[in-house]
Amino acid sequence: MILMSLYDLVTGKYFGPCTFCDARCCKEYTITITAHDFSNIVKNLKLKRSDLDKYFELLKASLLNSDEATIILIKDDAESIHECLLTLKSHPCIFLKNNKCGIHKFAPLVCKLYPFRYNGQMLSSARCVLISKVGYFLENKSNKKNIMKIADQFSYNLYEYRKLIRQWNTSPGSKEQFFDYLYSLTNE
Ligand code: SF4
Ligand code: SF4
Repeated sequence: MILMSLYDLVTGKYFGPCTFCDARCCKEYTITITAHDFSNIVKNLKLKRSDLDKYFELLKASLLNSDEATIILIKDDAESIHECLLTLKSHPCIFLKNNKCGIHKFAPLVCKLYPFRYNGQMLSSARCVLISKVGYFLENKSNKKNIMKIADQFSYNLYEYRKLIRQWNTSPGSKEQFFDYLYSLTNE
């Protein structure tokens, strides 16, 4: 009976494994996102085009571990080309409030999947505190189907995003034009 209660506690039957952690992942990582995540956030928060600079960034790809196919080419005023990635404003994430996600229902899939990988395995480098890691480990054993559902959706969104980026990169423009491009897609 006591064992059952401990199991429920660490696997999040009552609170969730993250209850024991102070949101390290939301503070320590730069959160790269896809066009689908961007669109979800824009629609749910009803953001205007002029709001985008407050929440999103285009960071130099060389500063991050990146998926080559999501590198966005951006022209600056001097017409030089920079390689960038689309991210949320991070360190801590702009949506983190009192150590909780302020956009939980429509958070980027990379956040929903963490601390798991695309293949459903836990990341060996996960930042979670030990008790949370145990909770996620047990959750993975009992709830692998749900984790794989998120992973599959994530892979599909990445595939679609890579196509969009490929298209943009054939004729790159400024950061403002890139945000115009993404913003116009959210209204399609
Ligand atoms: S969107 Fe939410 S879960 Fe993702 S990093 Fe930001 S606060 Fe954390
Ligand atoms: S996913 Fe891990 S690092 Fe992030 S808040 Fe939960 S326990 Fe902490």
